[in-house]
Amino acid sequence: MGNRLLASLRPLDRALLEPYLEPVLLTKGQVLFAPGDDVRTTHFPSITTMASLVIGTNDGRAAEAATIGREGAIGGIISSGHKPAFAQAEVVLPGPALAIDIGRLEEAKERSPSIRDLFARYADALLAQVMQSVACNALHPLHARCCRWLLTTQDRSDSPDIALTQEVLAEMLGVQRTTVSTVVGALRDRGLIRYARGQVTILDRPRLEAAACECYGAVRSHFERVLPEIKPQEIIVDPGG
Ligand SMILES: [Zn+2]
Repeated sequence: MGNRLLASLRPLDRALLEPYLEPVLLTKGQVLFAPGDDVRTTHFPSITTMASLVIGTNDGRAAEAATIGREGAIGGIISSGHKPAFAQAEVVLPGPALAIDIGRLEEAKERSPSIRDLFARYADALLAQVMQSVACNALHPLHARCCRWLLTTQDRSDSPDIALTQEVLAEMLGVQRTTVSTVVGALRDRGLIRYARGQVTILDRPRLEAAACECYGAVRSHFERVLPEIKPQEIIVDPGG
């Protein structure tokens, strides 16, 4: 199915959802929902599609609270479909997804305790990621947060290459573009990444992990503990470039 949360369901449970899952294509920058919206759809990113939950402020700035790729789902997860949305959901890496009406998903949870349990544990993992982001944004230096974000994104993109402009990276980290440019330049000078024409290439993943704050490992290990049936993300250690 390309989405690991759905793929982890038992066949009987999957059969409850399958008739209502609609394949969609998400485009870069697409807003799935904005604060105050009545969220009617849950999206399951497939393959390498990735979206972010972003919190904006009145002065036009923004920062990311959570990254959601093929290991998860976005829309009505923690609220179980009770509206309205609090954050903005934006597509960072475009691609395919499966969409389901939240009412249908809630019906399936009522019919199947194991679906309910899976989504409750996923909601816990998602909330853990959001809570870790609070500490990370308040306590950790920008270069370490930037490394964390690149690792999290690479886990979902299956490739050392991430199509990413510095504007988007600045938005995710809640800083000015010029500030992010300095950080990217420093990581490039240390040989950890390459950056050219809107593409970041991770050159040395072990050193990038060493340079990231503890939040990357903390979120990942909590996810693996609460959702052990979802296989760990494939990690590409050396792209050879
Ligand atoms: Zn951190």
